[in-house]
Amino acid sequence: MADDCIFCRIAEGRTDTEILHEDDQLVVFADIRPHAPVHLLVVPKRHIRSVNDLTPKDAPLVAHLIDAAKKMAVCQGIARSGYKLLFNVESGGGQVIFHLHLHLLGGWGR
Ligand code: AMP
Ligand code: ZN
Repeated sequence: MADDCIFCRIAEGRTDTEILHEDDQLVVFADIRPHAPVHLLVVPKRHIRSVNDLTPKDAPLVAHLIDAAKKMAVCQGIARSGYKLLFNVESGGGQVIFHLHLHLLGGWGR
């Protein structure tokens, strides 16, 4: 995809990033600078810049990202204690990597 996009490169297996989960639509890997004991990123394989670029046709993909995050929360043992799901949207919303990703944060006081 976009050669200059680090998340495209990770999703294509072109880096040494450990992929924790993968299917035909997404990959999941650990955030390199975690803000929580568990901090994973759920990333669509398709390059989409931000939530602003989603269309109604992408609704199944967004549901799939959330479903994958839920399953990863179970795998990580944080489903019961609870977690946050977060999209940062564009610079003013704190987005620094302009390839859509869903943050899964949790594990405090498990
Ligand atoms: P955002 O602020 O929503 O764009 O979040 C981007 C996140 O990607 C940050 O939390 C970074 O720590 C994380 N990040 C940046 N580069 C990498 C990388 N190569 N591998 C894993 N996480 C990364
Ligand atoms: Zn990308």
